[in-house]
Amino acid sequence: MNEFDLINRYFCRTTRRDDVVLGIGDDAALLRVPADHELVAAVDTIVEGVHFPIGSSAEDIGYRALAVNLSDLAAMGAKPAWSTLSLSIPQADETWLNGFSRGFFALADTHRCELVGGDTVRGALVITVQVMGIVERGTAMRRSGAKAGDAIFVTTMTGEAAAGLAVVQSQPEQTAAARRLIDKFLRPVPRIEQGRELRLHATAAMDVSDGLLIDLQRLCAASGVGALLDLSTSLLSNALLDTFEEAEAWRFALSGGDDYELLYTVPPSLAHIGEQHGVRIGTIVNGAGVRCRVNGFEHVPSAIGYDHFAAR
Ligand code: ADP
Ligand code: MG
Repeated sequence: MNEFDLINRYFCRTTRRDDVVLGIGDDAALLRVPADHELVAAVDTIVEGVHFPIGSSAEDIGYRALAVNLSDLAAMGAKPAWSTLSLSIPQADETWLNGFSRGFFALADTHRCELVGGDTVRGALVITVQVMGIVERGTAMRRSGAKAGDAIFVTTMTGEAAAGLAVVQSQPEQTAAARRLIDKFLRPVPRIEQGRELRLHATAAMDVSDGLLIDLQRLCAASGVGALLDLSTSLLSNALLDTFEEAEAWRFALSGGDDYELLYTVPPSLAHIGEQHGVRIGTIVNGAGVRCRVNGFEHVPSAIGYDHFAAR
């Protein structure tokens, strides 16, 4: 199978969107952005052994490569429209390509996100997906709008995904709870619908990929404010508490990554709207930095989150 056959067989499909003037097959794609909208673009690379464990199924990798990108569109409040895919693979393994494209397109079709181009090379297993979406002009959410007094929410309390990765890496035991955690890690659900709703009300938003504390710190820094988290054990999922000691569960919830939930702030008068799409975890305050209370006590985390270039 040569490169042309590979692209044709696994990635080239008939166009489903009428805003794709030209898709796969030419030197570049031609896409039509509707009037009064802005183009929203995001790109993420996932590397075997860094972002997913060596030996992950091709279908899960295909799903995840797109999901983490769609999550960025969700955080902006955008509607997904198009994607491009740069695929570096060690060999043209048909079983693998089949699984990968199945996982990728299953999610793409759910969100009507059409693959319009890409690049295919031989090399280490590295997958880069770019997604493009559209948003009504001037309505995209940013990290920078949070104000003192705003209520802080997450679409679902964090921790399960990082716990799922820990299960994959260590515990072969597969209780129903452990399987749920693994699924949260392998199959993050991009919160597109929530992002669309929240963009009309949230003062700031982002998706949580590196850890709740580090990502909240980024949102606060962008907004020039601080945050007070007020957490209790009742926020943690049962699957998490059934599988790990509580101290460990808090470590996953606060400093683990891979959640791909939305973190957002709303003015106090709109707290009820925040509640419709997630759970309240704290309040924005004047100043800088994130303070954290757990079950009424000041909590000092051992680590705040994931950083590719941090000294190890
Ligand atoms: P070029 O040399 O012009 O970059 P390529 O031979 O790399 O063209 O690709 C041919 C066509 O196939 C282009 O339209 C490109 O966007 C598309 N393509 C290549 N690889 C992929 C892929 N993995 N997924 C989707 N489209 C791809
Ligand atoms: Mg090329």
